[in-house]
Amino acid sequence: MTMPSASQLVILDRDGVINHDSDAYIKSLDEWIPYPSSIEAISRLSRNGWTVAIATNQSGIARGYYDVAALDAMHAELERLVGKAEGEIAHIAYCPHGPDDGCHCRKPLPGLLDEIRQALHLPTLEGSWIVGDSLRDLQAGAVAGCHQALVRTGKGEATEANCEGLENAMVFNDLAAFVDWLLAQ
Ligand SMILES: [Mg+2]
Ligand SMILES: [Zn+2]
Repeated sequence: MTMPSASQLVILDRDGVINHDSDAYIKSLDEWIPYPSSIEAISRLSRNGWTVAIATNQSGIARGYYDVAALDAMHAELERLVGKAEGEIAHIAYCPHGPDDGCHCRKPLPGLLDEIRQALHLPTLEGSWIVGDSLRDLQAGAVAGCHQALVRTGKGEATEANCEGLENAMVFNDLAAFVDWLLAQ
């Protein structure tokens, strides 16, 4: 793995970006259905010298819909698939709390991105990319100085239709389209 630097770092939301989202939450490994093009896109990023990290709100844990062991199983499968495609995920940060728990990590709050920054030993995330399907992903990134990319998968079309808060965001059909663009820069 190359030494991480913020200018070669992409931070991804999970649900609706890497895998299909569900309003009923992703509660088990069976329900975790990745977009194959996203697995390939993550792999292409790491094979081209980019560091990839994930920041995901998982309030279904606080709500009692699934436990950390179920989440770990999903993330082990994600890492297995990315590894099979010769890619790598440097860090997965998740918030297990609910909206009323008063935590500091539930996006748009900065805790998950700060966890990633510390895990990668970076002084700042300024100049890195955040990719998400919800406004709160982009907001969390904006606070940390990330470039913002909205994808139209998951809740992305609804987020785009709402228009609000997207002034500084680039919009892509999906993660693969973002990576195509990024690697062509
Ligand atoms: Mg999402
Ligand atoms: Zn939290």
